[in-house]
Amino acid sequence: MTLATSYILVAEDERGQAEILKYNLEEEGFRVGVAPDGQRALDMIGEAVPDLLVLDWMLPEVSGIKIMKKLRSGSDTKTLPVIMLTARGEEDDRLRGFEVGVDDYVVKPYLPSELIARVHAVLRRSRPELEEENIEYGGIELDLTRMRVTRDGAPIDLASTEFRLLRALMSHPGRVYSRNRLIDLAWGSTTYLEDRTVDVAIKRLRSALNEGGKADLIRTVRSEGYALE
Ligand code: CA
Repeated sequence: MTLATSYILVAEDERGQAEILKYNLEEEGFRVGVAPDGQRALDMIGEAVPDLLVLDWMLPEVSGIKIMKKLRSGSDTKTLPVIMLTARGEEDDRLRGFEVGVDDYVVKPYLPSELIARVHAVLRRSRPELEEENIEYGGIELDLTRMRVTRDGAPIDLASTEFRLLRALMSHPGRVYSRNRLIDLAWGSTTYLEDRTVDVAIKRLRSALNEGGKADLIRTVRSEGYALE
């Protein structure tokens, strides 16, 4: 098992937000469960303790703080990593959250990429034994924690954007990623970027990967996007 195959439970009653989060976490390779209220969250944790809980602080049935108190007093869940979601301006919630043992927090509204970065950081902190994480495809190896890349054992120098592009493509070889999706995954922002920005970054990624005349593994899918194969 690696960090990226960890099971994440999202306790969030706003359905749209829960779905966006589930989609983005699954894109990262996580397994994801969604609990629409506090009681359901406790029930699901009772069935299978997740590797990390994303906990909306304002939940129906059982509130975030009550859930935390329950988790911290249970032997299986005493150290379960928790990231809480709080509303902007609710400083008191954050303080109380830390008092009852949350590991980190994200303020709504947030970008999925921001939350995912926190998830990785908290998991890494809580599961240092999983820190050695590599993904490999077609002779290309990514060391996700050190952000290093090799092809057939030879190091490849990539800027961080190209690294994230490659990580996205390598997470699902064969899948065609649209330019918009790649912008979300590699730039992690909702700001407007032209498609051409993606094309230029892919070009740089290609030339770095293919140095020395190696086969091109990135496929351009006309008017769709890019895939690794
Ligand atoms: Ca809520």
